[in-house]
Amino acid sequence: MNIGIDAGGTLIKAAYRHEDSLELVTFPIAELVHVASWLNEMQNADICITGGKASLLQRHLKQEAREIVEFQASCRGAQYLLEQNHIAEESYILTNVGTGTSIHYVDRGVQRRVGGTGIGGGTMVGLSRLLTGLSEYGAIVEAAAGGLRDRIDLTVGHIYEGGEPPIPGHLTASNFGSVARSAAERRYREPELAASVIGMVGETVATVSVLAAQSCGVSTIVFIGSSFIGNDPLKRAVESYTELRGGKPVFLDKGEYSGALGALLSD
Ligand code: ATP
Ligand code: MG
Repeated sequence: MNIGIDAGGTLIKAAYRHEDSLELVTFPIAELVHVASWLNEMQNADICITGGKASLLQRHLKQEAREIVEFQASCRGAQYLLEQNHIAEESYILTNVGTGTSIHYVDRGVQRRVGGTGIGGGTMVGLSRLLTGLSEYGAIVEAAAGGLRDRIDLTVGHIYEGGEPPIPGHLTASNFGSVARSAAERRYREPELAASVIGMVGETVATVSVLAAQSCGVSTIVFIGSSFIGNDPLKRAVESYTELRGGKPVFLDKGEYSGALGALLSD
């Protein structure tokens, strides 16, 4: 059996074929040893691994697994998913919002890493935990879905206060900027805090992606990574900021498995 594994900073993703169907599974990185035992039990497995924790996983395997470079794997897997979804794009920016965010320019199957930012899925969870005490990904996203950002984030309109702003007034002028202008004793609720954290992550990721797209002369930006799983607040922030700045966002269904699929498809 062929199996592709993407062992990232937070989650391990696996892709393999079983009786003609494609199986996609995720494990927390804390279960790395368990994943290794699962792989060790497989008979005649052709394992290909990628991701930042690939070498660590390799050390727990009884048989030698092939390793491929993470960026190559995610681009290959994303291209496969684009084709499966009948999305015809030759040249685009691929933004992988994982624990951190990595940005690539893909041109007819060839990828080049053009940048990244430490603002990513790890920031969403880490900063939300510091601010709200919530530590579970699902709980943070659920809280954010019911939160309004207007007491925390300062918009361009807030600064111009009735004047004519040079850019749309609803744009964020300063993430968390309203907090500095409010009374010290003001208390904030979990939903608004989580919504503002996710909004900041989404706006940052979209802004750097659009700048990368402009410098590469393309407009399509394909977003992948587990940070989008069930995460409408992040999708909405990324989508609106990308469109507003002239980019065309594409959210790939199962995009979080791009690396694992790329590993599975590599020969
Ligand atoms: P990297 O590629 O940066 O090394 P990674 O491959 O582990 O990391 P992803 O799996 O793409 O990254 O995304 C990780 C992010 O996905 C987390 O930071 C979190 O925001 C989000 N996430 C989604 N589902 C979960 C979950 N069940 N548990 C923890 N985080 C989750
Ligand atoms: Mg990853």
